[in-house]
Amino acid sequence: MHDETCSHIADAALQADTGKVVGECALCFENNVKAMEFCVCCRLFFCKTHTGLHKEKTQHTVTLSETAVHCGECNKTVDSPGTLQRITLGQDSSPETCPHSATEESPQKVKQKCTYCPIEENLWVCLSCGHTGCGRKQYDGSGGDEHALQHFTETQHPLACKVGTVAKRKGDVYCYQCDRAVSAPIDTLQRFGVDIDRSARTEKTVGEAEEDLNAAAKFNQLLSTKIEHMREEKTRTRIGNIGNSCYLSAFFYVLSRVAENIPPVEAHYRQCLESPPDCVLCQSLKLLSALGSDGKTVYPHTLKSCLLRAGLPLEGQQDLAEMFLLTLNLLEAFGAEWAKRFCTKTLQVSHCAVCANSKKEAAQSLFLSVPIPDSGTASIETLFLEYFSPTETGERCPCGNAFETKQALAELPGLLSVQLNRFGYAQGGVYKKETEIACQDVLFLDAFVAPLQTPDGELVETLLAMGVDRKLAEKALSST
Ligand SMILES: [Zn+2]
Ligand SMILES: [Zn+2]
Ligand SMILES: [Zn+2]
Ligand SMILES: [Zn+2]
Ligand SMILES: [Zn+2]
Ligand SMILES: [Zn+2]
Ligand SMILES: [Zn+2]
Ligand SMILES: [Zn+2]
Repeated sequence: MHDETCSHIADAALQADTGKVVGECALCFENNVKAMEFCVCCRLFFCKTHTGLHKEKTQHTVTLSETAVHCGECNKTVDSPGTLQRITLGQDSSPETCPHSATEESPQKVKQKCTYCPIEENLWVCLSCGHTGCGRKQYDGSGGDEHALQHFTETQHPLACKVGTVAKRKGDVYCYQCDRAVSAPIDTLQRFGVDIDRSARTEKTVGEAEEDLNAAAKFNQLLSTKIEHMREEKTRTRIGNIGNSCYLSAFFYVLSRVAENIPPVEAHYRQCLESPPDCVLCQSLKLLSALGSDGKTVYPHTLKSCLLRAGLPLEGQQDLAEMFLLTLNLLEAFGAEWAKRFCTKTLQVSHCAVCANSKKEAAQSLFLSVPIPDSGTASIETLFLEYFSPTETGERCPCGNAFETKQALAELPGLLSVQLNRFGYAQGGVYKKETEIACQDVLFLDAFVAPLQTPDGELVETLLAMGVDRKLAEKALSST
């Protein structure tokens, strides 16, 4: 029905390309390709909401839909079914297949226990020979003893299926060769006595298990005054597991709850000079915008590859505090003023009891790293009392006497992030402390704030000693 063309459509490069195209709007998580337009120039999809913004910014006029090519400038549409499919391969939400699949070896019954150790959960069955081994150790010490991995190292049998995840002829399959979750047929399990047609899932999927750990990481390792909101907001958008993404998710959940004045992704995109998939800020804001709305699960693949390219160590052993620091620094480097919220100003005050000499050193950090006792239970308040109490660092006053040194907050922080430092060092090794930390709802920080340095400081102290609230005291004095 449409047959008129225009020079823009005629000139558009509509040939197939080997590069994989992500079937998701570049500025949000819309992924229904049928409801989107594909910019032929950028080779990116934009949803109905964002395609206008994209055209306005770039002056790109030619887009593809499922059935036609459009030129926005000349308002022409030419039927072209199949073109979109030809030049885009789309993003498959299930894991990709890998070359390690065909196998045939002698049958062996699947055991409900690791072949090498007493572990009976998180078991993986080798799809080549039916060997059962336990899974990997998680950073928190849970999980297995890595005997399934050991089996791979010894035999080079690459694929293993998690016991209890088989349902409807599918299961969680991991390829040790490629080191990732893959989609692979599990028919060989039948030879080891598993009824893959009638099995029902009894185990959590890897994704679910990792999300449990996510939650644990969020609540144990990072404490901020507003974190409790996260527990209530079940209907909010969630970040799906995309592999090695616990800390990435934890970080963005926290940021979305505590950062103020986060601009909408559209505002940034208007003046962004990068292509959205290559811009850390575009992708961060895309995720943060999604987290501010409700209801679905999003998979920030593009953000993850962006952060990887920017040098964040997402693939290896991770540390939440490190992730937190690096990502915030990165966002700030990209000009994200709103990421500065986490800055905590501290003072280290050294005092000499003999000559009353004292010196102050100011510092600022993104979070306080508070050590915790080796065992038992502790409360945040006792940890703080300990952290802010005077110690001797070995530094000496010019008079020869040892300085007594005290940490203090330089001011009442708007937001205070605390890392409970669970790592201890003994005999050259690192160990993890299992100490339980009780967290009270309200914690008064006034006692940990350094005394004012103004001439009125003494007065403030006097008022404080009388039980007057610090803020009130300061206000009263500054207005007299
Ligand atoms: Zn969109
Ligand atoms: Zn474009
Ligand atoms: Zn045209
Ligand atoms: Zn084992
Ligand atoms: Zn095997
Ligand atoms: Zn593989
Ligand atoms: Zn950008
Ligand atoms: Zn002295």
